[in-house]
Amino acid sequence: MRLVLLGPPGAGKGTQSARLTEKYRIPQLSTGDMLRAAVKAATPVGLEAKAVMDKGGLVPDETVVGIVADRIEAPDAKGGFILDGFPRTVAQAEALAKMLRAKNMELDAVVELKVDDAALLARIVNRVKETLASGGTVRADDNPEAFKVRLDAYHAQTAPVSDFYAKNALLKSVDGMAPVDAVTHAIDDILESSRRPAQTS
Ligand code: ADP
Repeated sequence: MRLVLLGPPGAGKGTQSARLTEKYRIPQLSTGDMLRAAVKAATPVGLEAKAVMDKGGLVPDETVVGIVADRIEAPDAKGGFILDGFPRTVAQAEALAKMLRAKNMELDAVVELKVDDAALLARIVNRVKETLASGGTVRADDNPEAFKVRLDAYHAQTAPVSDFYAKNALLKSVDGMAPVDAVTHAIDDILESSRRPAQTS
């Protein structure tokens, strides 16, 4: 199963990915997590990405595409993967298509979680509160200013990615405003109907 999860920041991609990882036994490849790990480890990529990420902007396509290209080569991604937070631009979607073509692979589905902007801001505010209450560290970009930039980047650069996948009929939309379990069910239904018959994982 090779899946892309699309949706604005705070749409629930991480929550749903975690569930799908368990069910399908495939890794969640979150470019946000990979970039945060690079920042923490102060790698050249991390040093380059940090300032952009803290402000809520997008890291350059070449950087992110390079990270994903390496990551999907790893043995645990051979049987499939869930891409979370990638592709975020049409150029990234094109680069992914090229990468997969070279490996003779195809995506099984692209699932878009739809959530309206007001609900997203409320979710982020809540995530910050819960993180603080549990003694965790709040993400540097989980503040109203950076969130606005993230949302603007989503509308300007990531929303066209949906159109890109709608063109080849891979795109399926799910109501991300529904309760978490209902969203999981809706995604499951989509994946069951888009599973390739010849595929075993
Ligand atoms: P969100 O919760 O906003 O969806 P992520 O954890 O997916 O956040 O990503 C956090 C930040 O990492 C983004 O705001 C962006 O700066 C950077 N980032 C993650 N994925 C990509 C990508 N595919 N292209 C460019 N930048 C990315």
